[in-house]
Formats: sequence, C-alpha cells, structure tokens
Amino acid sequence: MIRFPARTQGGYLSADRLLHSLPQGNPHVRLFSSAILALAFSTSTLLTGIAAAETTKLVLVAGKPSHPPRMHEFNAGVQLLAKSLASVEDLETEVVLNGWPEDESIFEDADAVVFYMDGGGRHEVVQEEGRRLKLIDQWVKNGVGVGFMHFGVEVIADQAGEEFKDWIGGHYEHMFSCNPFWEPMFVTLPDHPITRGVKPFQIKDEWYFNMRFVGDMAGNKPAEVDGLKFQPILVAVPSDDVRNGPYVYPKGPYKHIQANQGRAEAMMWVVNREDGGRGLGFTGGHFHDNWGNDDFRKVVLNGLLWVAKHDVPEGGVESTVTQADLDANLDKKNRR
Ligand SMILES: [Zn+2]
Repeated sequence: MIRFPARTQGGYLSADRLLHSLPQGNPHVRLFSSAILALAFSTSTLLTGIAAAETTKLVLVAGKPSHPPRMHEFNAGVQLLAKSLASVEDLETEVVLNGWPEDESIFEDADAVVFYMDGGGRHEVVQEEGRRLKLIDQWVKNGVGVGFMHFGVEVIADQAGEEFKDWIGGHYEHMFSCNPFWEPMFVTLPDHPITRGVKPFQIKDEWYFNMRFVGDMAGNKPAEVDGLKFQPILVAVPSDDVRNGPYVYPKGPYKHIQANQGRAEAMMWVVNREDGGRGLGFTGGHFHDNWGNDDFRKVVLNGLLWVAKHDVPEGGVESTVTQADLDANLDKKNRR
C-alpha cells in the first residue's frame, strides 16, 4: 500500500482506495481518471521520497512524577520502552515527558499515542475542561490508535468513561475495579500478533482487574460489542486471597469482587474499532524494575507496535535491558 502523508477522514488515503473511487465506464471520464491517477502516483512518489511516509509514528506520553522511587516511573518507563523499540525498522518513537506537551505538534501524523501516567481526576487527558478529550476523540475518528497503561486506565466514569469505552473498550472505575498487589501466572496466551515470542510468565505488580468494560462484560474472552472487536491478551485467575484484599486503595474487600471467585480476569486487552483504529489497555506497570522481565516487556512492546498498526516481528520485539537501563532517567524523588 502506498501511503500518502496527508490524512483523510478514514486514515491514510491509499492508492487502492483511490483506484476504486475513480469513475468507470465513460471513455472521457476514464481518460480524465487516468490523468488523475498519473498525477496522483507521481505526487505520491515525490512526497513519499521526501517524507519517508512508510514510517510508523508512535508517541509515548509519560505522566508527572508520583509515588516513591522505582514506582510509577513514567518518564523513565517511556524512555526505556522507546530505547527497546529502537531496533524496529520503519518506526519512529517520540516520547513526551512530564505530562501533556506544551507543543501539541508532536501528535501530528501519529499512528498511535499511548499514555503511561496517573489517572482519575488528575488524568492528563481530562484536563482543560474536555478540550483534550475532544482532541483525542478526533484522532480516534481518524483511525489513530490509542493506549493507556497502569493508572492511566483509570478515569472518573462521568468524566471520560464513555470515551474510554469507545476508544479502548473499558477503564478502571473507582470502587468497581480493584488494585491489589499480586502475582498472576499468565499460562495461556491467545494467538495474536501481540503474543509473538512471549512465553508464559508470572510477575508481581499492582495488576488492576475488574475493569468497567463496554457492554458490562467480564472481558476475559474475545467479544464483539456494537462493532467493537475486543480481545483479551493477558488473562489470569486471581486467588480467593487476592479477591479478599487488601487492595492498595481503598483496602476493600468489595463484595462484588469476592462474588466472582474463580473467574479469569483481563489485565491487558486490545480492541479493533469500527472506525479502523485500534485501542489498548494494560493495567500493570507499577514497579519500574518489572521492565527488566523479558516477557513482561515484550508483550507491551509488541502491543505498542500493534496499536500503531506496525507489523509485529515473527518472534516479537527483541530487546535487552540492563541494570544500567533500569537505573536510567529515574525521577528525582525523596530518596532515603
Ligand atoms: Zn501503581
């Protein structure tokens, strides 16, 4: 597919679509359309040459510092993820640090924007009285992928719940979802590009679960709701102890969480939207050092490519993270 740098309503205008949209039949019209085609192809070749339009652009937005050292290290986290993606061909990864960028031009021509930050009422996307939500909604309608990680999956339902359900299929809801520290074992991984090269793994994190998913579904199986195709990626069964709490905040336990004893829960999921765009939610990411786990990191790196519609390599994204990488770019916090 030839990609034109200019966006149209449904994403990039492809040469395939241009061919199909041209009038047929009348020889004069056909002659005219050949001229348009010739012009279009020469223009596209020219523009492609200049702008390297085959490159996928991924923007990772980190939130402001919060929590003790090595927790919620969003700034260090996005830089580590960007470094881990550096070997991926035809991918340009931009990082935004410390919250919403002052210069929004960084979002221009993005194929996907992924937010790793604190959420709830302080979520960066709900500031400016809905202006940012409207902007993201416009991206989404143009087929741009969006993703939210860790606390970033939490919004106040009345503020942005409907948007999150439309964009990524669900969100964390205070007093409905819960946030215990636990160590799920991801035994069975679905056959999906995001799981390429990912082996079953187990790791302790503040794995939120029981999201408020679209259609009030449990979210532990593939589903289609109002044209939104939903696919869980990381699913595990919390033990009764995990359901009984305590959770991080509020401590709980909640009766409705205990009542679902034995049920599998989704901690990472993706959606294909009717508008052609993609969405991703990932509830882990509390402990910065978890990025040192190869499978934990790979499933997220693959997810970042997938949400931007970039091919995921056969064995998944290959990357190496050293202790020095894990110690790099940490926020200045009050260290004891
Ligand atoms: Zn956390």
